[in-house]
Amino acid sequence: MIYLDHSATTPLCEGARQAMAEAMTCFGNPSSLHIEGLRAQKLLEQARRQVMQGLGGHAERQGELFFTSCGTEATSLALFGTAYAKKRREACRIITTDSEHPSVSQALARLSEDGFEIVRIPTRGGALDMAALDAALDKPVLLASMMMVNNETGARYDVEEAFRRIKAKYPEAVTHCDAVQGFLKTPFTPMTLGADLITLSGHKVHAPKGVGALYVSKKILTAKRLVPFLVGGGQERGMRSGTENVIGIAGFGGAVAELSPRIKEELAAMESLRSEGERRVRDMGIAVNTPVCHAPHILHITLPHIKSETMLHFLSSEGLCVSSGSACSSHASHPSDALLAFGLSAHEADCSLRISLGRENTPSDIDALCRGLQAGLDRLVRIKR
Ligand code: PLP
Repeated sequence: MIYLDHSATTPLCEGARQAMAEAMTCFGNPSSLHIEGLRAQKLLEQARRQVMQGLGGHAERQGELFFTSCGTEATSLALFGTAYAKKRREACRIITTDSEHPSVSQALARLSEDGFEIVRIPTRGGALDMAALDAALDKPVLLASMMMVNNETGARYDVEEAFRRIKAKYPEAVTHCDAVQGFLKTPFTPMTLGADLITLSGHKVHAPKGVGALYVSKKILTAKRLVPFLVGGGQERGMRSGTENVIGIAGFGGAVAELSPRIKEELAAMESLRSEGERRVRDMGIAVNTPVCHAPHILHITLPHIKSETMLHFLSSEGLCVSSGSACSSHASHPSDALLAFGLSAHEADCSLRISLGRENTPSDIDALCRGLQAGLDRLVRIKR
């Protein structure tokens, strides 16, 4: 099996596995005051430091990290938590993009029903439309939520510049970035990003599924601009109630600790595989949807009049795992909003595949992918004729 679907999820790395094995020997509740509880608490704090390190050395001084059950929950905390913290007389405009992951777009659809005004900035060709953003700053902004790397096209948006423009005009605006696909794939720190809130997810960085985190700047915490979304026992310093998933969180910390020191070389290797793949699929007559700026791990292609699902099943029968869309929307019957926003037609979106690379892929995987795609083209085009 050749796995080329790392944007959907990643295999556990050794660092995560070891940290989880150690955490499995500790059954304590981190809220308990006895020795077994304190052991569990220590595991949580170690993982918190490790994930913070992945956000850059200074992140710990400027903000705090709250563990959640996944990236989706971290984003709900960010968006609903900011909206619920809003004071009566504050602005109710929220700026976002037209190609967000459903965890952002669906949460904002809810807030729209509750009276918030949502302005979506176009991302045609994989770039934020800065003129549209400037035009959207004609009224005070409560919150801006923009993703760093698009989970379908791999576009790396210039969120830094967008947040800089928003803060220049409205310093009180809260900035949130869904960095689920960008974390440990593209260099950033909360400072360079200009983000008050950052969503992370464990299973995209070789940690287990079922663990995520929200970074929150100290400024936001001091000004009480964020209120909890899950309430109850007051875990995670009151910001996220619910007994912590100690094993998953330990795995998240272990994964980040393993990946962070090698990130430069691994990303350079991924980028080189990606560009080799891009060159070779273009030579086969397959269109590559290359964004203005891209992350090193995602290659998005459009097949010549072959439905993505048909090719996906063919490749799967050859032992190659790719995706016909983001894992969470691949069962949807409507074309992906992100692909339409990129500029693809509904038909092109229906004929598109996402190939997403990981640290364990090698040049021979690209060879196998190209052989599989060529065999698929020969076979499926013949069937169509
Ligand atoms: N945001 C982006 C960009 C994603 O790709 C995903 C998952 O695919 C999520 C958020 C949701 O993360 P989780 O699966 O941890 O809820």
